[in-house]
Formats: sequence, C-alpha cells, structure tokens
Amino acid sequence: MRIDLHTHSVVSDGTETPTQVITAAARAGLDVVALTDHDTVAGLSEAADRAAALDLEFVPGIEVSCRHRGVSIHLLSYWHDLGDPEVAAMLAKTRDARLDRAREIVQKVAQDYPVTWEQVVARSGGAVTIGRPHIADALVDHGVVPTRDAAFQQILAGNSRYYVPHYAPEVTAAVKTLRRAGGVTVFAHPGADARGRVVPTSVIESMARAGLVGLEIDHRDHSSEQRERLTRIGARLGMVRTGASDYHGTGKQNRLGENLTTPDAYAALKAARG
Ligand code: AMP
Ligand code: ZN
Ligand code: FE
Ligand code: FE
Repeated sequence: MRIDLHTHSVVSDGTETPTQVITAAARAGLDVVALTDHDTVAGLSEAADRAAALDLEFVPGIEVSCRHRGVSIHLLSYWHDLGDPEVAAMLAKTRDARLDRAREIVQKVAQDYPVTWEQVVARSGGAVTIGRPHIADALVDHGVVPTRDAAFQQILAGNSRYYVPHYAPEVTAAVKTLRRAGGVTVFAHPGADARGRVVPTSVIESMARAGLVGLEIDHRDHSSEQRERLTRIGARLGMVRTGASDYHGTGKQNRLGENLTTPDAYAALKAARG
C-alpha cells in the first residue's frame, strides 16, 4: 500500500487541478492519497470524484495555517466535517487576511521590481487561497527570478525586507476546533527549520494535549537529526508517525510518493476519527 497524505492543487498553490493531482497520484502508483490545500476545502469534491473514477482511496484533507508566538505552523487535518461553521469561519478569516497581506507584499516588491497586483491575481488562476507562490510566479513571468524556489530564496523569504506575515489562528485552538469537527490532526513538517523558525517541543506537547494525533516526520524538509528528534518526541507522546510528499505539481521539486505513511499508521489515523 502506497499512502501519500499531503498534496496541493491550483485551488491553493499547486500547479495542477484537483483532477490532475489525483490522476498523477494514480500514475505514481499510489493506493491512498489526500488533497490538503492551504486553508480551503474547495478542491475536495472534484478530487473525490476523480479518485472514485480511478478506484483510488481518497482522504479529504486540508493544511491549516496556524501560529504560535509569531512562529508559523502548518496543521494537516483529515476527515473533519466540511460543513462545520466554526472551522469554516476560522478558514475564511485566514483567507481574508492572506489577501490583504499578499497585496501588501506586492506593494513592497513593486517598489523595486516589475510586478502588479493584477498580474499576481491573474497568475493565481482563480486560487481560493492566495500566497507567496503566486507572487513568485508573477516574478518568474517577468524574468526577475528563474523559478519559484529562487523567489523564495531571495525576495519572498521569511527574513526578506518585503515579507509581511498574515493572521493565523493559535495552533492549540485550531487543533481543538478541528477535533470538535471530527478531524484527525497531524503537525505538518514540524522540524522544517530551513524555511524559518520552528516551535520548541513544549508546543508539540500542548498540541498533543489539545488532541493532536500525529507528526509528519517523513518529509523532505527534515534533516536526519530532525527526524531522530521528532521520532523520540512522537514515541513519548504516542503520536502517529506519517510521511508524505507535499506535492505542488511543478511548483516545487517534491514528487508524489517520495515519502509515504505506513498502512499501520494510516489505520491508526482512521481509528482516531471523531
Ligand atoms: P505563504 O503561505 O504565502 O506564506 O507561502 C508559503 C508557501 O510557499 C508554502 O505552502 C510552501 O509550500 C511554499 N514554498 C515555500 N518555500 C518554497 C520554495 N522554496 N519553493 C516553492 N514554494 C515554496
Ligand atoms: Zn504550499
Ligand atoms: Fe506546509
Ligand atoms: Fe503543504
């Protein structure tokens, strides 16, 4: 069983439609795949339809932007009630904040580089959740940088003078809200320290107390040291260990199935459903 529980489509910042992501998942030999767009569930029904047609097991998911003391945290949730009003309000607030924040970043970048808000919106191709990757794509179009990666290494980096953060819910509150809606939450790439600050172990402990089920340990952004550290923490807190690709189509190097979740871990996630 090949199980990949973290992918993105054009509904957020991937480059393929939900249909294309699921088609690619089948082609990559996956048996189970989750779609986890940032702060939106708008792609899930299309993905579920395509998965049913291809006889692939589909897990409806999301990657929720959260924060703790200024540190950005990504929280995966699976199977939560998509109609839950509390979850919907939490996500709508973040998406609104992202829109204002993306405008602010573009305003700053536009002082030094040829980019306009209209181009970024056009480049986002109707994405429900706007983010830095869309600004990166507009910069690539203008030949300012060769790739998304290059944009993130310079102009759009978290420590760049153009960077602006956005509102996101406190992570323990988000874990509880998703739990109440029947969701199974997993801390996405908790030790990805190359992209910015990561939270200390004490925050993982608070999240566990709030109802966190798993840690996404097998992720390309984790060094072997981080994997060892997180394995120890996860074992102590009784967390389910997951692995996934974090596929973004051609937007990132990550390939479908490059990291996987074991059937036992997947069964443990399923058993934790509310
Ligand atoms: P934002 O959500 O607007 O803060 O932008 C962060 C998003 O950009 C995350 O979803 C990442 O997957 C994506 N991202 C981060 N670093 C890179 C990179 N080096 N190349 C491409 N995408 C990236
Ligand atoms: Zn992304
Ligand atoms: Fe993430
Ligand atoms: Fe992701």
